[in-house]
Amino acid sequence: MTSETQPQSSLESSSNSYKAVELEKKWQKQWMRSNLYKTKQPLANQKTFYALSMFPYPSGSLHMGHVRNYVITDVIARLHRMKGDAVLHPMGWDAFGLPAENAARERGIDADKWTNTNIEQMRIQLKRLGLSIDWDKEISTCHEDYYKWTQYIFLELLNSGLAYQKSATVNWDPIDKTVLANEQVDSNGRSWRSGAKVEKRKLKQWFLKITDYAEELLQDLNKLKGWPENVKVMQKNWIGKSIGAEIDFTINDSNLNQKIKVFTTRPDTIFGANYIVISPEHSLIDDIIDDNYKQALIDFRETINDLSDQDRTSETKPKTGIYTGRDAINPVTGEIIPIWVGDYVLSTYATGAVMGVPAHDDRDYEFAIKYSLPITYVIQDPNDSSKEQLSKAYTQKGVLINSASFTGLDSDVAKTKIIEFGEKHNWANRKVTYKLRDWLISRQRFWGCPIPVIHCNSCGVVGVEKESLPILLVSPNKDKSNLTNKAEKVICPKCQKQATAETDTMDTFMCSSWYFLRYVDNKNSNKPFSSELIDKWLPVDQYVGGIEHAILHLLYSRFLVKALKSTKLINIDEPFNNLLTQGMVQGLTFRSKITHKYVASKLIKDPLNPIDPDTGEDLDTIYEKMSKSKYNGVEPSEVINKYGADTARLFILFKAPPEKDLEWNESDVEGQFRFINRIWRIFSDNRSNFELKYVSPSFKPKDLSKEDKELRKIIHKTIKEVTKDLELNSQFNTAISELMILLNAIYEYKDKCNKTIINQSLTALTILIAPFAPHLSEELWEMLGKDNSIHDQSWPEFDPSVLIEEEYKLIIQVNGKVRGFIMVPSSYNEEQIKESSLNTQVAKKWLNGKDAKRLIIIKGKLINIVV
Ligand SMILES: [Zn+2]
Repeated sequence: MTSETQPQSSLESSSNSYKAVELEKKWQKQWMRSNLYKTKQPLANQKTFYALSMFPYPSGSLHMGHVRNYVITDVIARLHRMKGDAVLHPMGWDAFGLPAENAARERGIDADKWTNTNIEQMRIQLKRLGLSIDWDKEISTCHEDYYKWTQYIFLELLNSGLAYQKSATVNWDPIDKTVLANEQVDSNGRSWRSGAKVEKRKLKQWFLKITDYAEELLQDLNKLKGWPENVKVMQKNWIGKSIGAEIDFTINDSNLNQKIKVFTTRPDTIFGANYIVISPEHSLIDDIIDDNYKQALIDFRETINDLSDQDRTSETKPKTGIYTGRDAINPVTGEIIPIWVGDYVLSTYATGAVMGVPAHDDRDYEFAIKYSLPITYVIQDPNDSSKEQLSKAYTQKGVLINSASFTGLDSDVAKTKIIEFGEKHNWANRKVTYKLRDWLISRQRFWGCPIPVIHCNSCGVVGVEKESLPILLVSPNKDKSNLTNKAEKVICPKCQKQATAETDTMDTFMCSSWYFLRYVDNKNSNKPFSSELIDKWLPVDQYVGGIEHAILHLLYSRFLVKALKSTKLINIDEPFNNLLTQGMVQGLTFRSKITHKYVASKLIKDPLNPIDPDTGEDLDTIYEKMSKSKYNGVEPSEVINKYGADTARLFILFKAPPEKDLEWNESDVEGQFRFINRIWRIFSDNRSNFELKYVSPSFKPKDLSKEDKELRKIIHKTIKEVTKDLELNSQFNTAISELMILLNAIYEYKDKCNKTIINQSLTALTILIAPFAPHLSEELWEMLGKDNSIHDQSWPEFDPSVLIEEEYKLIIQVNGKVRGFIMVPSSYNEEQIKESSLNTQVAKKWLNGKDAKRLIIIKGKLINIVV
């Protein structure tokens, strides 16, 4: 063993320190040889438990965020295995995507080789964490036996009308040369991956009809009781349901028999509609624009051509527009109001036209001020009527003013009445809209799942026959700088004529939106999965992953499950029953106060007074998410080589509750290593003294001393608390605190109790710490004389009778004066206390044959008899 693998703490010198790294390797070898973590078929009446981590992208190295994610899932999986459930705990690889393709292009390596090498490296790193993964269930989305079924699922969607192709203005990333989904463009209009300014292009694209499921995806959030509230709110906002009305505004020109349909969520403000704004892409625009304004429109379109939807609707960007030279008629006021074109109105949202109500909408207000349009207030703050003429928009609900017969009504009531009025007069329709757009899945990339369709001159787009799947990746030509897929010649399955194969591949989110279904049946070569097995194992009992997937991945997975249910491939309607979104792992970060430049922690001599080695300037010390660019990362392998995986696991679980951010701190890591060593020493230093042996925590020895009883009580309290912490809300940190209390008690009582009770406490500690420190507990288990694996051991149950004080002294008062006492069992309820108190000599004497006027009982203390 080299000096690097030895802990640098003071414990190193101890002759009896725990050889974590050596022992962990030993147990990992044994586990690999055994069937310990294999998924067992559930017995009759046995509960199944599906523990799932979000699978990683195979970048080649595990980071601390991964470690935290998988350790949390592992503790949960181990607990349920010990509780007697049939557990499925799989792992796989989200293996398509750009980095492999970029590596192939830049370094001339095959994308599949690059990916598979990374997978091999990461699998080794995962195994060193001591995870109870069933590696027989492993999948990789880039392997033929997986993507064949992704294609199969695509064809199912195509055949049921849920996949379609249409020409669309798309977000084009000029660096990665691909189309991005709206969600992959940040609020500054840049690609989430390359950071490039996104351009607009018109291309034929494949879409999935997620919008068909908008209402169901929204309503079924109510079924997800085991999801964090914030994730549900994010999904709800993303779906963005709003109830409003479509309202027709007639164009004020008898030659133009046209109406403009606007959508509004605030029909109650229609009396304040001072103008109309339509999107520059609106289908009627070329018909209605006045000849004198046509050039202005062409120029205007030029100025917004490069802007993303996010740019155009961004709150910080000034709104711009032009007058069309045409007006419309407000259907309630009869006023003539101008029609404008505005960049902030998108043709893809609702009708692509809005009514401008500057008094009650911030964007409209800004637009009206800029172009000197009138502003009419029609809603009043019910608590402050002085705000009628404001210097800004009043966007809340309130009471209607300046609204003819609707004046005085409350906004909500007026909304309904105005829609009814408009429906009666044929200018309004109640309308529900969603912000959710169909899911754009095609990518012009090589390293992805090929879309299994062909283009035939006679038959159009035709899905490939399922028998001929998989449609293999087109192997890239020797010149890896050009990896665009070739449009190969194929035979049309319908008419047998020559046709061309589709060259687009699918968004990797498509591959990851069904992987949890494949795990249960990953060797099936006839179907993507058997629906009987899905029924047996799903919905997933516990899903663990990062909050960054709160919207897209989780929404796409929910959609796909619902779509597959409608095609009768499965029976479930939600994929994940319980969701835990773990917080970030943050590293100690040093940053310049002036330039905000990051300085590597290796260059800092005194972390308490950090100074920039180049400039001598004082630096800020902060905790931020670990990343290469901030030089604040901690390599999992370094920690494992120094302290072992059990220490890393305990630290991660102890330092913060799982959903909170975790600040990596070396001295706290050492603290956990010392905890492990204290456990280790109480076993190894007392082998002969305690006559170490397994004693079941449920065993009830006779003739116990006061100290024996006290320690036994602590054992059962620990079992109770740890079980509660793990089962109710994954509070691993408080569970580990309880184990520390138990260990302290064992040290305190080790010379005062009989050996049976001491061994019972050691047995309990070993079993309870097993999910957290799987290697250490195996070693201790062996020292207790057991030859099976502790991970096959069943979880202990606490004995409530041990936990209660057996009896206590109950003071008896008569008319508030102490007259005596009795000993009562602490399990007694008020009725039993009353009965035994009244039966005492003292009570009988003072009552003298009469009933008590009143009885006042203070449980655990006294009874006052009022005579
Ligand atoms: Zn054809």
